[in-house]
Amino acid sequence: MNLHEYQGKEILASFGVRIQRGIVAHTAKEAVDAAKQLTAETGTGWHVIKAQVHAGGRGKGGGVKLAKNLKEVEEIAGQIIGMTLITPQTSAEGKKVHQILVAEDVYYPGASETKEFYMSVLLNRGTGRNMIMYSTEGGMDIEEVAENTPHLIFTEEIDPGTGLLPFQARKIAFNLGLSGTAFKEMTKFVASLYKAYDESDSSMFEINPVLKTSDDKIMAVDAKVSIDDNALFRRKQYAEMRDLREENAIEVEAGALGLNYVDLDGNVGCMVNGAGLAMATMDLIKQAGGEPANFLDVGGTADAARVEAAFKIILKDPAVKAILINIFGGIVRCDRVAQGVIDAYKNMGTINVPIIVRLQGTNADLAKELIDNSGLDVQSAVQFQEAADKVKAVLG
Ligand code: GDP
Ligand code: MN
Repeated sequence: MNLHEYQGKEILASFGVRIQRGIVAHTAKEAVDAAKQLTAETGTGWHVIKAQVHAGGRGKGGGVKLAKNLKEVEEIAGQIIGMTLITPQTSAEGKKVHQILVAEDVYYPGASETKEFYMSVLLNRGTGRNMIMYSTEGGMDIEEVAENTPHLIFTEEIDPGTGLLPFQARKIAFNLGLSGTAFKEMTKFVASLYKAYDESDSSMFEINPVLKTSDDKIMAVDAKVSIDDNALFRRKQYAEMRDLREENAIEVEAGALGLNYVDLDGNVGCMVNGAGLAMATMDLIKQAGGEPANFLDVGGTADAARVEAAFKIILKDPAVKAILINIFGGIVRCDRVAQGVIDAYKNMGTINVPIIVRLQGTNADLAKELIDNSGLDVQSAVQFQEAADKVKAVLG
């Protein structure tokens, strides 16, 4: 589950990480009130208006702007709220902005230079450890840094059993070229950031930029956070932060029905039981010259109600030109599934795309008979290859 910047910063602050402070606003008027409140609390004269959407690169898309007085706060907030923001990390259609963060300006002049760093904490699945990635080249596109100057990205592996050790935090501060107050601040920042990542059951905390202010404070200016979905049951306060408006509408609906559905770009809808078979089926579709329109695991109990729910979900995607149902009857009997397919088809009235059904396992013969005698525009297949050929034929 992904979070908004302001939510990520809330979590960071609760673990003692210094953050660029801000207040969420939904209208230009709220933005002005927020700016006044921030000025009263922090003394800041300037404010940064930041679109809150689940995508990075907002600055490049015009979703992060500096306001030098309240009139500009009102103007810029008015522009950004309601806009469709297109960034290098959104689709071409972009994302609608429902809310903004009015933040204090932290790039003020002072005794020393401001400097932007990159830092993220993530799970390294390869080593089974946590990892802190960091770089002096913050604020910009880290993918570009990785591509052109990979030697400027450092990694520090952390054993999840022992946690971050003090020498590791010092090593990071040292490698970032810091000394004095900024060095000490950075070691505290790293330790608290790791704690926030660890104790929120996150799979990623990306802070870009981490800022060294002109008075040598170290703070998080941005926060991109993903919390492990499987941990949300025990992290209720974070589960409540979910913003369904930011997620794929069909995936949200499927999730509510208990279907494991992932929207993809192709033209062949698939309905499968079991994640492994679903992956194999997607390969099969590709080999037949199609592209899977989705990943869909209906789970163990593929009864009529679930099959119908799955049909409806698949057909919400206008790109679907054919549907392949590939179900193995182990515990569930194939004839039951076949009856479910037929009932669901009849309940739904007309389905305008060809359907190919492959049922294997217990009572597969009976199932094929049911499908073949149903009088519906549904083709049965016994072998995997046969199913692929039929998909190929209907795609033309
Ligand atoms: P992103 O573009 O989605 O990654 O959004 P960020 O929160 O990282 O902001 C983008 C850029 O806005 C930062 O890299 C900074 O250069 C700039 N920025 C953020 N906060 C401030 C601020 O307080 N003052 C000024 N002058 N610039 C800021
Ligand atoms: Mn950023």
